[in-house]
Amino acid sequence: MTAIGILGAAGRMGRAIAEAAREAGVTVVGGIDRRHGAGELAALAAASDVLIDFSVPDALAAHVDAAVAARTPILVGTTGLAGDHHATIDRAALSIALIQAANTSLGVTLLARLVREAASRLSEDWDIEIVEMHHRHKRDAPSGTALLLGASASAGRGAATGALDRLDRGTGGAREPGTIHYASLRGGSVPGDHQVIFATEGERVELGHRAESRGIFATGAIRAALWLAGGRPPGRYTMDDVLAA
Ligand code: NAD
Repeated sequence: MTAIGILGAAGRMGRAIAEAAREAGVTVVGGIDRRHGAGELAALAAASDVLIDFSVPDALAAHVDAAVAARTPILVGTTGLAGDHHATIDRAALSIALIQAANTSLGVTLLARLVREAASRLSEDWDIEIVEMHHRHKRDAPSGTALLLGASASAGRGAATGALDRLDRGTGGAREPGTIHYASLRGGSVPGDHQVIFATEGERVELGHRAESRGIFATGAIRAALWLAGGRPPGRYTMDDVLAA
């Protein structure tokens, strides 16, 4: 039976993943959180068939290094990652199988595909606005999922990730054609709502997803972890690869 190790085990997602694993009959071999003893991370990596990381960006390098040292695949669900985090992930993918996913729900994975398709068919005259809402404790904005959906829209328009993004409207002014804008709402206990609006003169197309519980991220994370643990060659995979399987 596949044994998973949870990084960020005491957090909201860490606890949801332990619960989803229990429901799926998957063994949780252990978990660590912020305060852990010397050698505990390396021992967990060695004892696990796959690691699942939903913690904080600052912990990413240590978590990925431990996975590489133990040759254990890892699913990184932590969001708010910067360029150096992605460089660390790319290096690790030379020696282990890993997935970095800002959203592990299967619904959002499908939505990203639909957004890419819509963006490829609608001309630049269709403005793209991405609106997200999350609970009051969320640290990063826009959400990793909003940026992921923006990256899908950019890909649909043949542009590099981030090239069309406008994260700060500043003092307003006319909208630059072809750009992607973001709006982040924070409040209450919302697990995650995302809406991608394509707007042109006289009409709008809206594609969206509402997470009703953290359980969907946890279920998708377990599915992705089992997929990773199935003897994949080293490489950086995506939730789309999991959905296609
Ligand atoms: P949280 O704050 O409840 O949990 C994070 C946990 O990480 C905390 O328990 C914290 O103590 C722990 N932590 C801090 N430093 C650590 C370290 N050095 N080593 C190990 N653990 C450490 O947050 P959350 O709501 O559970 O979200 C965690 C992350 O997952 C966030 O980045 C969030 O945006 C992301 N997230 C991703 C998805 C997805 O589908 N990929 C879904 C929801 C949340």
